[in-house]
Amino acid sequence: MKTTNKALTGLGTTVFEVMSGLARQHDAINLGQGFPDDRGPADVLAKAADATLNGWNQYPSMMGVPELRQAVADHEKRFYGLDVDWQTETMVTSGATEALAACLFALIEPGDEVVLFQPLYDAYVPLVRRAGGVPRFVTLTAPDWAVTREALAAAFSPKTKAVLLNNPLNPAAKVFDEVELSLIAEFVDGADAYAICDEVYEHLVFDGRAHRPLIALPGMRDRCMKIGSAGKTFSLTGWKVGYITAAPALLAAVSKAHQFLTFTTPPNLQAAIAYGLGKDDSYFDGLAAEMQKKRDRLGAGLAALGFDVLASQGTYFLNVDLGDRADEAFCRHITETARVTAIPVSAFYVEDPVTSVVRFCFSKQDSTLDAALDRLRAHL
Ligand code: PMP
Ligand code: GLN
Repeated sequence: MKTTNKALTGLGTTVFEVMSGLARQHDAINLGQGFPDDRGPADVLAKAADATLNGWNQYPSMMGVPELRQAVADHEKRFYGLDVDWQTETMVTSGATEALAACLFALIEPGDEVVLFQPLYDAYVPLVRRAGGVPRFVTLTAPDWAVTREALAAAFSPKTKAVLLNNPLNPAAKVFDEVELSLIAEFVDGADAYAICDEVYEHLVFDGRAHRPLIALPGMRDRCMKIGSAGKTFSLTGWKVGYITAAPALLAAVSKAHQFLTFTTPPNLQAAIAYGLGKDDSYFDGLAAEMQKKRDRLGAGLAALGFDVLASQGTYFLNVDLGDRADEAFCRHITETARVTAIPVSAFYVEDPVTSVVRFCFSKQDSTLDAALDRLRAHL
């Protein structure tokens, strides 16, 4: 028989599904896949319930319900000073994942090169390849995961159509600084390319840092597609509500991909997220402060057990460097014996993987983090 599509055939199952499956099998505490283990904000849940029972539950507009699109535009103004026209510059998607696919499908033609930063979220490369793109990698290494001019110069070429930047960066837990962002902007501009900006962790930055979207840098307003996710901003990862902000011409192209991917997103959830994005600053500050405390709780616990804990500037994640131990074997071992699950960071590389770093998710209740640390202590 003829082969199925080569970009997808033969791919393994995503590491998150594999490790969560293993965690269930061994009744392990799952600090692997990134999701909070509480119920999410009660008022946002109540809005969704009300919209389900009393609202409109047929197809909403393809671009998203107006309240949510307005809320996204207001959000970009409030947090980043961006003037965004909600009618031509915002669109709602079914999660950031769909937004990523729509942006790539809108931009990439066979042979176009896409610059990606390793370690990277595992959906990126299959989506780039499925779109006909050719991935070109900039490899970042622990502990500071720094971007250099030399590395960018080696990855960019006249064929570069886009860069896909995840900031804050999962799994490295790095927040790119102004100097690095300016450097990336310079290369995007120099290549006459676009930037797909996966900023799902925009509200999860720590130690007084402020998130700086690439789209806000000089020259970037018409080149960037900024992607957000309600999953991360409201601790509701199962809802799969995402949003894109981009200049009108770009967004129009992305909407053509979106219309034949999912077309739309559940309207009850959109209504609840429209409400959520309007919550006052204390919600957003509180989210980051609460996650920072959890980071410190897990980080201190792992350090006390003798782990070499790497800095976490943002995201849901904290990494440890095992030195000469292999990450994958270690993650399986602790799942099966200590009954605590983590994710091997080598799964986030396509070329030349770093094989000694393990990612733990700290967006969990304190009791979950403490129980995981107790189990690791007993085992070690
Ligand atoms: N990008 C990154 C970097 C992620 O970690 C995730 C995981 N949630 C996503 C995108 C996907 O987000 P969503 O669940 O909204 O599709
Ligand atoms: N973003 C989550 C993580 O990095 C996982 C999302 C998924 O399972 N697809 O753990």
